[in-house]
Amino acid sequence: MTESTLDPAELSSLEYRLDSYESLLRSFRAADYTFSPFDPTEPPGDGEVLLRHDVDLSIDRALVMAERERELRVRSTYCFLLGAPVYDLTRPQNVRALQRISKLGHEIALHFDTHTYWAADDEPSAESVAAKVTDELAVLGRLVGEEPSTASFHIPPSWVLDREFEGFTNTYAPLFFSGIDYRSDSSQKWVEAEPFPNGFPEALQLLVHPGLWHVDHRPMVDIVEDHRQEVNRQVDGYFDPLG
Ligand SMILES: [Zn+2]
Repeated sequence: MTESTLDPAELSSLEYRLDSYESLLRSFRAADYTFSPFDPTEPPGDGEVLLRHDVDLSIDRALVMAERERELRVRSTYCFLLGAPVYDLTRPQNVRALQRISKLGHEIALHFDTHTYWAADDEPSAESVAAKVTDELAVLGRLVGEEPSTASFHIPPSWVLDREFEGFTNTYAPLFFSGIDYRSDSSQKWVEAEPFPNGFPEALQLLVHPGLWHVDHRPMVDIVEDHRQEVNRQVDGYFDPLG
């Protein structure tokens, strides 16, 4: 393991390698940042990073990242989808991974897909959103052994941004979104764009997708193709014995 850190202001781009990610975390540590959970009673202050992981692709990649963070004494929040076509959270090996991530000291949270319930231009009532999210939180709680209270939204429609809901903590609530800086690694954009052109912000929410980071940099198109093939294999394996 390298012990390197990165100067954020001099970082013109970033390959999506795990050692680069670790250097980034070390750089926050070296600059005296602390890693905090999403706590609606504690507004994030200067020098705090709310590190969030949306698990869109792979629980295995999430577990690898969680282990690496543990070695660096970094705590973060892992958000999982129920009903994702690429992984089944109820499979025993996935439940074990979920529980392991929790044991490593990370927060388990829900990644909620509004699109399975409502069209993006069909804004439901806040009560309807809260009811569905809390239903899914209860299911996730049964799997992990303790009920989480935080949810992030998958491909968030505008009507979940910058608002609070009853019954759960929204990672896009004003306190964690418009109230502080917000950065994400979506679509591997840091390969081209400067992640922190003005240095590290005073306080920020940092969204990192574990499925995009590997030992060696892998382009997004290859990662997606691998998942597509794996899902196809599973579907074939299900149909084959049915004749
Ligand atoms: Zn997502």
